[in-house]
Amino acid sequence: MAPRLSGFIIVGVAMLLPLMWLPGLITGRNAVALFSQYLGMTAIIAMAISQLIATRWWGVERLFGPLDQSYRLHKWLGLWALAATFLHDTVDADIEGPDGRTVLAEIAETAGEIGLNGLLILVLITVATFVPYHLWKWTHRFIGVFFILSAFHYLFIEKPFSNTDALGLYMASVCMLGLIAYAYTSAPRRFRPARRYRVEHLEQHGDALAVSLVPQGRPIRHRAGQFCFVSFADLGLSEPHPFTLSAAPDDDGRLRMSIGPLGDYTIRLMSRLKVGVDARVEGPFGDFSKARGEQIWVAAGIGITPFAAMAGTLKAGEGPITLYYSVKDRRRAAHLEELEAIAAQHQNFQLVLRETTVDGRITPSEIIDQAGSLKGKHVLYCGPSAFRKTLWEELREHGLSARRFHYELFEIRTGIGLDSLFNFILNRSLKAAQAARENQRSDG
Ligand SMILES: Cc1cc2nc3c(=O)[nH]c(=O)nc-3n(C[C@H](O)[C@H](O)[C@H](O)COP(=O)(O)OP(=O)(O)OC[C@H]3O[C@@H](n4cnc5c(N)ncnc54)[C@H](O)[C@@H]3O)c2cc1C
Repeated sequence: MAPRLSGFIIVGVAMLLPLMWLPGLITGRNAVALFSQYLGMTAIIAMAISQLIATRWWGVERLFGPLDQSYRLHKWLGLWALAATFLHDTVDADIEGPDGRTVLAEIAETAGEIGLNGLLILVLITVATFVPYHLWKWTHRFIGVFFILSAFHYLFIEKPFSNTDALGLYMASVCMLGLIAYAYTSAPRRFRPARRYRVEHLEQHGDALAVSLVPQGRPIRHRAGQFCFVSFADLGLSEPHPFTLSAAPDDDGRLRMSIGPLGDYTIRLMSRLKVGVDARVEGPFGDFSKARGEQIWVAAGIGITPFAAMAGTLKAGEGPITLYYSVKDRRRAAHLEELEAIAAQHQNFQLVLRETTVDGRITPSEIIDQAGSLKGKHVLYCGPSAFRKTLWEELREHGLSARRFHYELFEIRTGIGLDSLFNFILNRSLKAAQAARENQRSDG
């Protein structure tokens, strides 16, 4: 799924806008240097929009698409900024004023160099998803510092127009937008809009802990399939983590999230949560449940959470929907009883439980065979990314269009394939080392 078209239009227009003024400045100047300056401007525009997306402000999802998709745009904008800054640095952009370079311009030049190198390191850490999350998170907060250096470089470097000309004012506003967005994302969390909730009830559902939250003021309004960022400062867990709301929205604003033991944080949270603990809830975000008509839902493990909420809102005449729910065994399945009850109640909702320890993993071919034709159907998937890839490849071969394949991966930080490259190099090196050792042994 790609970010929203409006997002691409905003990015395209914002990046092309300087071209309204730049051609008029070519006469008597070095066109290559001017083009290099334009590349530098696009880098600043990309960084500013990227900072804007990171704020998660109201309206960001409407313009750029649901958060997981807009974060993908955020990543590609970062990569563009890096590539454009690199080219700008390589292709001579010097346009000196009549009195030569001023001291301020010299300082701005140095700021630009530091900005480029800093950006290079941080963007590489971002796309190299094998770098541990917490190290990435810690380093990523400095990206705004390099944006500030780049903006300073742009504002005070020699250029063929002034900061008070139309182009200068446009670029100054872009810099200001990026700075405000960065200041907001770096500010203490208490300045960000969030709603207060309290843990009302805890219940183990298979492997997952279902946490019911009751509002302590105005509740959030969400649709089934959406997620929130939740933090529990009382438990020493004040970093917000994303969790899907696993129950259909209810009138008194109660929320339910279901936490699976996925890693360090979730295991710690599951063991520390108690009734009466306060929670901060930011959101809602996402737009997973927008498909209508005939649908196939595929959930793996804790990936059942959005479907549990969506099944709870089913109305007569909707669908038909078949939910494939893949778990190790039925004792470990979350929300199985409530899904079975919904299936018993609604003719248009069929539940297919797949116990992988009994029947092995479900394959895309089985789903396709049982569905017959995929024509007119939407497929929604939530679970590990490896299964998403094989599922999508086979579905595409059977004629499903990308528009009809929707997924939620429980991952916000996505790479650009460097993990596979890293694994490939590592495997090759290990094999080469093993071969060398065997050769040595046979020689000896
Ligand atoms: C949109 C979305 C919906 C989700 N819904 C659910 C749900 O319903 N139930 C559920 O159990 N889990 C859900 N998750 C996953 C859950 O948020 C992560 O597992 C959790 O944030 C990291 O916890 P961990 O125990 O895996 O921690 P760790 O072992 O510390 O981290 C493992 C990985 O999780 C990611 N991660 C760590 N911290 C964060 C953070 N603050 N924000 C984003 N990613 C982080 C990183 O990629 C990291 O490498 C969802 C994730 C997303 C993105």
